Amino acid sequence: MADETTATPATPAAAAPHSTGGPSSGPRGPRPGGPGAGGPGGRKFFRRKKVCKFCTEKIDAIPYRDVRLLQGFVAERGKIVPRRLTGVCTTHQRQLSVAIKQARNIALLPFAARF
Ligand SMILES: [Zn+2]
Repeated sequence: MADETTATPATPAAAAPHSTGGPSSGPRGPRPGGPGAGGPGGRKFFRRKKVCKFCTEKIDAIPYRDVRLLQGFVAERGKIVPRRLTGVCTTHQRQLSVAIKQARNIALLPFAARF
């Protein structure tokens, strides 16, 4: 039983690969005005991207006959999903609510789901 611990001499890698790349242009300073940590209070609910769907698709008038479209913004019980969950902008949310109400009146959407 040899008590000696054979210490392997860790030789530092003297021969570092010398990259022939030029010096990185641009001073590498600290982040300019970067926010600190992620911030207090992590958000758990990421429903979708916070981009208005109608703005991205450039829909001016929301078609109230398009039930499939409207149902994406109506909860199961028939309530209109609030804007902060869907990410719809203010003007489109207004049009959306009008469109949903029109669709309700012609019985395309339920006023309230039955249970
Ligand atoms: Zn919009």
